[in-house]
Amino acid sequence: MYDECGLMIVKEDYCCEHWEPDDGALVPMKECWCCKWSNFRLENINGGTENLSVCNYEGNRKEVVNR
Ligand code: SF4
Repeated sequence: MYDECGLMIVKEDYCCEHWEPDDGALVPMKECWCCKWSNFRLENINGGTENLSVCNYEGNRKEVVNR
């Protein structure tokens, strides 16, 4: 599933081989929530309650995956 920009939509507890820890996560677990490529923490600061976010990793973009 992708958003209108072609970014992959991910759940908090999803993870992939491109996972990299985010500086803002104190105990980084191998989940999208703790990955530097997701927007979870950003969205939580903005008051979001969704448990979905997008993956900003270039290699996971729709057009790259479907190439
Ligand atoms: S946010 Fe993206 S790169 Fe990070 S683990 Fe999730 S799917 Fe993989």
